[in-house]
Parts: sequence; C-alpha cells; structure tokens
Amino acid sequence: MKEKVKSLKQIEELKKDDPFSDPEHASDNAAIDTDVREQVGHDTIEAEVKDLERRVKEIDVALRKIIEHQYGICERCKKPIPQARLRLIPEAAYDIDCEKKLRK
Ligand SMILES: [Zn+2]
Repeated sequence: MKEKVKSLKQIEELKKDDPFSDPEHASDNAAIDTDVREQVGHDTIEAEVKDLERRVKEIDVALRKIIEHQYGICERCKKPIPQARLRLIPEAAYDIDCEKKLRK
C-alpha cells in the first residue's frame, strides 16, 4: 500500500528534523533559549511521529485483513462495508451503522 510507505517515510523525515536526534545535541553548549526551542521542536515532532505511527498501525490492520480476505467486512455485523465508505476510509473496520452504534 502506497500510503503506508508514505507514512513511514514521513516518520523518518520527522525524526531527522528532531533536534534531539542531532548527535551533537548532548555535547553542544547551547544557550538555554536554544534548548527550550529544541524541546518544543522535539515535542511537536514526537506528537506527529506518534500520529503517523498510529496511522501505519491502522494500515497494517487493513493490510492484514486483505490477506485474510476479511477486508471490507464489518467487524461487528460481518456485512460488507459499502465501497464508497472504503474509498473514503480504507482502514474502516465497521460500516456506518455499526460505527454510529459503537460511538453512542
Ligand atoms: Zn456492521
């Protein structure tokens, strides 16, 4: 799935941007304000990486379902999920009815 590759690539890029991954970070004598900026940058990147990792996990679940020929089947009622919905949310685990019921 193209999207998984894209997400994994984004994670890689974000981690590269993370100031904490700079090998010189620990040894540099940065001013305190630089440290604060690096901390904020690190936190933002960490949150984004977490988001992407969650996304990759969802894609993995969808991929596993394709392998098991379960893809597009609602996990709750076992009815096929409408194609229009799958196009919108490829990793959807439930049809709209079940999703609504589960959210209540
Ligand atoms: Zn259902």
